[in-house]
Amino acid sequence: MHILVINCGSSSIKYQLIDSVSEQALQQGIIDSIQAEQVGPALQSIFAACNPWPIDAIGHRVVHGGDFRDAQIITDDVLARIGAFSDLAPLHNPYNLQGIQAARELYGTLPQVAVFDTAFHASLPRRAATYAIDRQLAQQHQFRRYGFHGTSHAYVSQQAADFLQQPLSALRIVSLHLGNGASACAVEFGHSTDTSMGMTPMEGLVMGSRCGDIDPGIVLAMARRAGLSIDEIDEQLNRNAGLKGLSGISNDLRAIEQAAADGNDNARLAIAVFAHQVRKYIGAYAATMGGVDAIVMTGGIGENSASMRQRILQRLDFLGALLDDDRNLDVTLDQHSPVQAIHRPHSRVKLLVVQCNEALQIARQTAAIVQQANTLSAPAVIPVAISARHVHLTAATFARLFGADAQPEHYRDLSQPGQFACRQTVKLIGPRGQIDQVRVLGPLRSKDQVEISRTDEFQLGVDAPVRDSGHTEGSAPITLQGPAGTVHLAEGLICARRHIHMHPDDAAAFAVSDGDEVDVAITGGVRKLVFGGVLIRVHPSFRLEMHIDTDEANAAELDGHSNARLVYQATPAGAVLQSRR
Ligand code: ADP
Repeated sequence: MHILVINCGSSSIKYQLIDSVSEQALQQGIIDSIQAEQVGPALQSIFAACNPWPIDAIGHRVVHGGDFRDAQIITDDVLARIGAFSDLAPLHNPYNLQGIQAARELYGTLPQVAVFDTAFHASLPRRAATYAIDRQLAQQHQFRRYGFHGTSHAYVSQQAADFLQQPLSALRIVSLHLGNGASACAVEFGHSTDTSMGMTPMEGLVMGSRCGDIDPGIVLAMARRAGLSIDEIDEQLNRNAGLKGLSGISNDLRAIEQAAADGNDNARLAIAVFAHQVRKYIGAYAATMGGVDAIVMTGGIGENSASMRQRILQRLDFLGALLDDDRNLDVTLDQHSPVQAIHRPHSRVKLLVVQCNEALQIARQTAAIVQQANTLSAPAVIPVAISARHVHLTAATFARLFGADAQPEHYRDLSQPGQFACRQTVKLIGPRGQIDQVRVLGPLRSKDQVEISRTDEFQLGVDAPVRDSGHTEGSAPITLQGPAGTVHLAEGLICARRHIHMHPDDAAAFAVSDGDEVDVAITGGVRKLVFGGVLIRVHPSFRLEMHIDTDEANAAELDGHSNARLVYQATPAGAVLQSRR
């Protein structure tokens, strides 16, 4: 497919025509200095420039996607919802919408897709998305963390995983997009679990002209003490802060680095504050993820400023991250070498610089959605099962809990062939409370794993990460008690990610692959709900069934007889495409 990617900003339109198979840009350019009423002619000239190639679909970059978890085929309803979020991204969304509207008027027969900067962060756990302010006020006005630069974080973390020849689902990555806008993202086993931008793109790192984190008391004092109006404060924090405000020179790091070299103290301070803030977020995300395997930099500053990279990444030996100064100075990214390593050979944490390519990521998602929409017939029904808390044990742990001679005793078969509930149960002991009679499942496994629900987390007094079954690295500790003894697991406690088991034949019929993530609409319950981020697990021994935990079932007011339907959408991480590559 030939995908035209359009990024319609306040005064310019950037475009790329991308071949979805070769992933090469066939044509690209930027049309500058345009007014709102010129968007249509600008698009026509873009189409003229792409003339030799037939265009199959258009992918639009949209900064604020509100509650959308995934890219969307554009409909009137989708447009209205995007419009509703415009005041949260006033520098971007209204212009993104103009581009979409003009393209629909001119090329209404082509499928058009909106790809959101916020969507990759739809997986943020509640604790990372929630601000500690009055709940009612927050809910009424959607004061929560949405996060931005998601397309870039998803793309560069996948690039990093490919470069390291490891699955993204096995890596904890701190992704740093350092451009005019800047943000950090904790990409934990493929999912965004925290990010520095918040409800708007102002929070977090120091940016070209945006302030990043400041004491909210300063905003009040700007009004009360400095007597500034709301618009003046907006101007100060959005356009006159960051590197520009600090240096008094420019929002461009190149000019600031030059001035610093010439002895300008404000320029030196601007550089130091920028680097300090980024380092803080690296430490924070290493802590929230329980470790870090790679730190990845991209964006104009991340890709080009060796001295800023050096300031940020020096003295991280305590984390296991050893910067190689020579390799750092030697970085030159291009199409043939879009990822370069700058760590020393024995560095446990990998340090990578990645060339940003948001347009390609937008093209991938656009192609995936359009292909799915074209190829899929009526979705079939998937039975839903509610899984209670349970434990999987190794032979060694089983013996310590139930005695050296004990064997798992069959109690009843589970729906997945070969799986069974055992007669044996254990007690879970957390720092706050205990849960009795938690069923052991058979057969025994090679790793201990304890799966609980959110409510259980509170009862036990632990924070368990949401994980795919089998991924217990760096997960929470828990103590198990059985009749023959007590075992403390240093890790193994997780909230299982909701998932669908399916046979390869089902996967073919649904056009999904193992490891894909999909949205699923639940029918049959009292309330209609769409669950995002549902993992597809394919194995010849699996029977078609969706597993959700008791909390989720309660939220949807489900009983045991509900059904699910796949809502066909690619994930921001491009999982559908990945598995096809
Ligand atoms: P945007 O976030 O607008 O997409 P970019 O990612 O292109 O911006 O980053 C632009 C910024 O990158 C510039 O403002 C400049 O500060 C910085 N930059 C680009 N090249 C260099 C360089 N060689 N040295 C230092 N900074 C650079």
